[in-house]
Amino acid sequence: MKSLDCFESFNTNAVLFDSVLKHSPSCLAFKNLSGQFVRVNAKFCHVFGVTEQEIVGKLESDVFQLNDSVAFAEADRAVIKQVKVFETEVDISINGIQRTFIQVKFPWLTPQQEVCGVGCVLTETTRVKWLEKNYGLAQKVIENATEAVVFTDAKGLIIDVNNAYQTITGYQRKELIGKNPNVLKSGRHDRSFYQAMWGEIKAQGHWSGEVWDRRKNGEIYPKWLMINAMLDEEGVATGYVGLFSDLSEQKEAEEKLEELSFYDPLTHLPNRILFHDRLSVGLSIAKREKHPLAVLLLDLDRFKIVNDSLGHNVGDELLELIAKRFVTLGRESDTVARLGGDEFAVLLPELSNAEDASVVAQNFIDVLLEPFCLSGQSINISVSIGVSIFPSDGADVDGLIKRAELALYKAKEQGRNTYHYFSQELQDAVFEQLEMEDEMRHAILNQQFTLFYQPKISLKTNKITGMEALVRWIHPEKGLIPPDKFIPLAEESGLIIPLGEWILQEACRATAEWVKKYDENLVVAVNLSARQFKSEDLLKTIQNTLDTFQLDPKNIELEITESCVMENVENALQTMKDFRKSRLRLAIDDFGTGYSSLGYLKQFPMNTLKIDRSFIMDLTPDSDDAAIVEVVILLAKKLGLDVVAEGVETDAQLAFLRAQGCQYVQGYLLSRPLPADEFEAFLKDNI
Ligand code: C2E
Ligand code: CA
Ligand code: CA
Repeated sequence: MKSLDCFESFNTNAVLFDSVLKHSPSCLAFKNLSGQFVRVNAKFCHVFGVTEQEIVGKLESDVFQLNDSVAFAEADRAVIKQVKVFETEVDISINGIQRTFIQVKFPWLTPQQEVCGVGCVLTETTRVKWLEKNYGLAQKVIENATEAVVFTDAKGLIIDVNNAYQTITGYQRKELIGKNPNVLKSGRHDRSFYQAMWGEIKAQGHWSGEVWDRRKNGEIYPKWLMINAMLDEEGVATGYVGLFSDLSEQKEAEEKLEELSFYDPLTHLPNRILFHDRLSVGLSIAKREKHPLAVLLLDLDRFKIVNDSLGHNVGDELLELIAKRFVTLGRESDTVARLGGDEFAVLLPELSNAEDASVVAQNFIDVLLEPFCLSGQSINISVSIGVSIFPSDGADVDGLIKRAELALYKAKEQGRNTYHYFSQELQDAVFEQLEMEDEMRHAILNQQFTLFYQPKISLKTNKITGMEALVRWIHPEKGLIPPDKFIPLAEESGLIIPLGEWILQEACRATAEWVKKYDENLVVAVNLSARQFKSEDLLKTIQNTLDTFQLDPKNIELEITESCVMENVENALQTMKDFRKSRLRLAIDDFGTGYSSLGYLKQFPMNTLKIDRSFIMDLTPDSDDAAIVEVVILLAKKLGLDVVAEGVETDAQLAFLRAQGCQYVQGYLLSRPLPADEFEAFLKDNI
């Protein structure tokens, strides 16, 4: 009963009241019936920043600038009137900071149970409220996160999962609670993987890494998993939080990107970038292991014809089918790539000797022998191949590819459907060509070109009716270079355009002079190369030149070869029509060599046929050539065209042509092509 004694000894209201006031963690205040403060405790003073002396005897509204002091006074009156306890939550702004309290107001009673004032207990809940609110927020964040979150207990059994976890795994929350997350195992990782993982979590409290799991529907997917242990004060795990994101979409995107950047979308073969990469890797291995390596460059022959005549869709389908045949060839380690268009490449990284590449090359040629069947049509296509070998032809990617390219050109030149190895002679020839191209550029600037003229004679009158302008290159060191040696190169390099313009000007300049001096009907024949003929400005250039030298269109005849016309009949026909509208004369050169059909011949709006020299050369009565020449002359007459026989060297040839009714001849028998001054002298005598 000791404690009771103690209690009794302190059992005076005043002492008990004072100590409660002093130690209460809540704010306590007592007001009399007029609303004046009678007592407040230390906590009250601390929270509201006042002293007891400042406040006792004052009204609430005297001390505090409370917005709702009216409401407070009202509440006090209700307590007094109803003699009841009221409990409310109030927000009070103290020094500009909003704080929340639980407020209990109770009637202050005398020992006679009469109300003598109001007591008030204010317990602050600001922090609790903040925690409550923010915990809700964190929960919301977790619930709606795109990452899956799982909470487990210390044994690793699932306590809760969020929405993403259910979406990614395909399991419902209720199917998971109480289970071990290993229900998701894909079987891709072995025991030691999980052992190592748990070892790390136990030791360090966390682990992260890529894991392959299985969805409820059986699908296996990669995820990036992070596991954190939740530890108590003693460092003992009370549970675990797992967090992961689904990597499958990212993986797919990565794969797609790789596919796009390294593979050709049409054939799915490696593209140029990947080919170069593999070649570079192959080269370093070949260097280290000292074995040869081969690069094969493949170019389909006349693929453009398929594209142009059957359309690009058929062209694409054909490429796909070709690619399918190609991949059946070669070894696992070989790379068959599509470099673009109708160009393919093969890398043979492990050769025992250079000659083995020829077997592979022949296989690629042979695999195309059987025709392709596309949209009901049978299509034949062949391929030309250039081969370069490491180490003999080069030791780097660019060098080997360039040399294979040169070899490919050679294969094309040799009539296609064949392969060709790179050789030093090839390289030399290319150097020579490049050198010549360079020299030719200089030659145009330094006026090393000149025109020769070969007279054309009418067999009716035995007089000169015109001449063919033939270009010569007077090289300062090499002397006179015939056009066969440089026209094809000029054509290939594009130099034919400036050179052709010069030829045209020079021919017109000289002819304008001779027309004035000797014969107003004199016609100069100027050869046009294929590239010139296709150029859009050609007609304008010619007209300007004629204007410059005041030459009538009737004084010039443009010679285009039969093969140039046949290359693209539609376009050629249009260009020819445009020429004729401008009153320019047209001749078909080298007639008989370009396979034009009679049907076309009728449509071509030309003035003259030049029978190719090859038919005149072996002209003996009753030969095949004689028959051809006879027919051509007859045909030209029927179509109302002039006929010129070129390359007439003998009297017999001349006699035959005369007998057949050929109108004009040109050839060494009458005159070789002559420099301008010599030609002029010849002209003067034969007009
Ligand atoms: P082409 O247009 O067929 O010219 C006729 C060629 O035959 C000329 O050779 C000429 O010298 C040669 N020739 C003429 N009569 C005889 C003969 O009786 N016997 C023999 N064996 N040959 C004869 P050239 O001047 O060497 O020209 C060769 C080719 O170069 C020309 O063939 C033409 O395709 C081209 N060419 C010449 N000059 C020009 C030009 O100014 N522009 C263009 N684009 N090409 C030209
Ligand atoms: Ca000609
Ligand atoms: Ca000719």
